[in-house]
Amino acid sequence: MNLVVMKFGGTSVENPEAILRTAGIVAGRVDQGKRPVVVVSAMSKVTDLLLACAAAASRGDRVGALALSSRLRSRHRDTAAALVKDFKDCAKLQDAIEAEFNALDEILRGLAAILELTPRISDLIVSYGERLSSVIIAHAFRERGLDAVHVDARNVILTDSTYQKAIPQDALIEARCALHVRPHVDEGRIPVLGGFIGSNEAGITTTLGRGGSDFTGALIGGALHAEAIEIWTDVNGIMTTDPRICPDALRVKTISFEEAAELAYFGAKVLHPATILPAVRKNIPVLVLNSKNPSNEGTRIISLAPHCNSPFKCIAVKKKLTIIDVVASRMLMTHGYLKSIFDIFDKHQCPVDMVSTSEVSVSLTVDSNDKLPAIADDLGKIADVKYEGQKALVCMVGEDIRGQMGISAQVFTAIKHVNVRMISQGASEINMSFMIEEEDVEEAVKSLHAYFFRDPDPAIFDVEARLPKDKD
Ligand code: ADP
Ligand code: ASP
Ligand code: MG
Repeated sequence: MNLVVMKFGGTSVENPEAILRTAGIVAGRVDQGKRPVVVVSAMSKVTDLLLACAAAASRGDRVGALALSSRLRSRHRDTAAALVKDFKDCAKLQDAIEAEFNALDEILRGLAAILELTPRISDLIVSYGERLSSVIIAHAFRERGLDAVHVDARNVILTDSTYQKAIPQDALIEARCALHVRPHVDEGRIPVLGGFIGSNEAGITTTLGRGGSDFTGALIGGALHAEAIEIWTDVNGIMTTDPRICPDALRVKTISFEEAAELAYFGAKVLHPATILPAVRKNIPVLVLNSKNPSNEGTRIISLAPHCNSPFKCIAVKKKLTIIDVVASRMLMTHGYLKSIFDIFDKHQCPVDMVSTSEVSVSLTVDSNDKLPAIADDLGKIADVKYEGQKALVCMVGEDIRGQMGISAQVFTAIKHVNVRMISQGASEINMSFMIEEEDVEEAVKSLHAYFFRDPDPAIFDVEARLPKDKD
């Protein structure tokens, strides 16, 4: 088995140069005797802009929505023209792009008339990003001599109908992969699919949630029993923390599935939280690699991580959270009280990140969202409620904190000037999390990073990146 799934994120396909680099990386794998299946995101920022188109149209701003769409049309047309020089092929591709944008504009006009953006229509609009990028990239690969073939991911990634966060149907995906993807691979072709998008059984377009192309890659890798799932992005791999917060973050060479899943769930944007599941089930290694620096080894995510000298591997941050305090002033915490609280979150389909309880009060954290007033209203029927936004969750992850003494003391000493609002440890034995004000994130993460990664274990972290470079 030498099949590898290679997923390229938005920055890896952001413009013609990036797409050519991507083609080179795929060609490199073919030269190594691998059989790639390629999954691509929308070109960078396109998803956000499509959502902006949808928002403008649903406000009745038809002109604004169509102007945005027209800018996207030009960007895709120009990218195609720069990549595909063959006259006939280019004309075919330009016609396909034109048809997609004509259809998108029709939807936007309709939306501007009815002024109601449903999750289903939002998924349809946002799906154009991956639909377009995958078609253009398949053509670009062929122009570069790769035997690429475009496969519409909506015929492969079958999901339920939970629009905007659809749940994949594994057995159906496996059957569709066998039908629409495997035969191409067996005949030496390179299937190219858009990530993020799928469809329900009625054929209606769905999406897997923001950042979901990683998940598509893993689902296809799982269904095809790939030997590896490669996530190509714009950093050297999973880093000790978000390099945008801490520029001296180090690459983590190897990390366990469990650690990576915690990190992804608690905000490390580099990986979609569900990516790990299909890989774990089939024990397929996941590699996180840099398309701008393809010779770097990246991060290898495997079932058992080697022992590390430092307690933590990584610090993740999730911003834009809200703390909800529920205080049972009228009744003490009786049997069934917590259930009644969680039933309300369930009713509003709102996931809870962290919970902490005392005798009469419960504090919970959730993603700040527009359901909060309705949730607070319902909670208000059983208790006193207050909620406060602009909070951030800091999550310290490492298998080696299991059973180590004095770790919490070190964590909270390192951030002694920061006001900590909630603390959680023990749920998974490999993470320690706490809530702080969003404005304190930078100071907290920098202090924690400086303390815990001052003497990094060279077996686990890429310490060479920190050595002074030779001057010539
Ligand atoms: P892609 O478009 O390739 O899917 P994303 O923007 O989704 O890329 O994820 C990559 C980004 O994740 C990086 O540019 C980095 O800023 C951010 N990030 C957050 N936490 C981490 C981390 N621990 N390690 C690496 N990158 C991280
Ligand atoms: N394009 C989608 C997004 O920006 C999916 C992805 O890139 O993973 O969320
Ligand atoms: Mg991503």
